[in-house]
Amino acid sequence: MRLCRFDDNRLGVAIGNEVRDVTPVVARLPAQRWPLPKGDPLVAALGELRPQIEAELERAPARRLSEVRLLSPVANPSKIVAAPVNYRRHLEEARADAAIHFQKQVEEIQRVGLFLKATSALVGPSEGVALRHLDRRNDHEVELALVIGKPADRVPAADALSYVAGYAIGLDMTIRGPEERSLRKSCDSYCVLGPWLATADEIGDPTGLDLSIAVNGERRQHANTRDLVLGLGTLIELASSFYTLLPGDVLLTGTPEGVGPVLPGDVMEAAISGIGSMRVEVRAA
Ligand code: MN
Repeated sequence: MRLCRFDDNRLGVAIGNEVRDVTPVVARLPAQRWPLPKGDPLVAALGELRPQIEAELERAPARRLSEVRLLSPVANPSKIVAAPVNYRRHLEEARADAAIHFQKQVEEIQRVGLFLKATSALVGPSEGVALRHLDRRNDHEVELALVIGKPADRVPAADALSYVAGYAIGLDMTIRGPEERSLRKSCDSYCVLGPWLATADEIGDPTGLDLSIAVNGERRQHANTRDLVLGLGTLIELASSFYTLLPGDVLLTGTPEGVGPVLPGDVMEAAISGIGSMRVEVRAA
């Protein structure tokens, strides 16, 4: 199932060129009062809600996909976890290019571990990316993103994929420079997630997915998740050895070689096999 959030926080299921509006199901979520629980209540309840979503589909009004405004399929992650330099050839390109490494040693992921992006950076494809610090290089990084479905605390890699609710395309937008990654990669709109959450059963085996991004029609990055240095299970094991991953938490699994700059007016088109594709416009903040 391809679950999307669209327009004014409506819940949809993408089927072919259409979105079926299943928003009435959201009313079944418990009403929230301060203090809000951590994590995303919709993703946490997805297992229970799924039969109701499927029942709602039969009477759900349809809209054309091209006519809706796609938001991030996850509304309230407690964390956006990201893997740096998790493709061998991206490590090589980062070490070779001073405009990427900025005189900082680029270390292997086994040494540097993971970093966090601010949750306030999260947007959907239709919201676009608003570039800041235009005097500096702003890069695209296309990544397979996974979304955690149930609390994961110190889980072994072998069991880790059973904690995944689904997958999406992630853009880890990045200002190049000497500061910590969490600063340079956390500007508003610098984490694009979309076009929907493809549930884990829809993807099956996530270890052989093609991912790519083109800018203004010119392909920049193209790789396959089989070339990840640390695989998805190992990333979840590593992250959950430090903190509990909660339903709705997003894990960006790393970008392959071919990162490059974008400018206001550019259009990015990112695709991952089994998930789909999304178009993202770039503007100045
Ligand atoms: Mn990245």
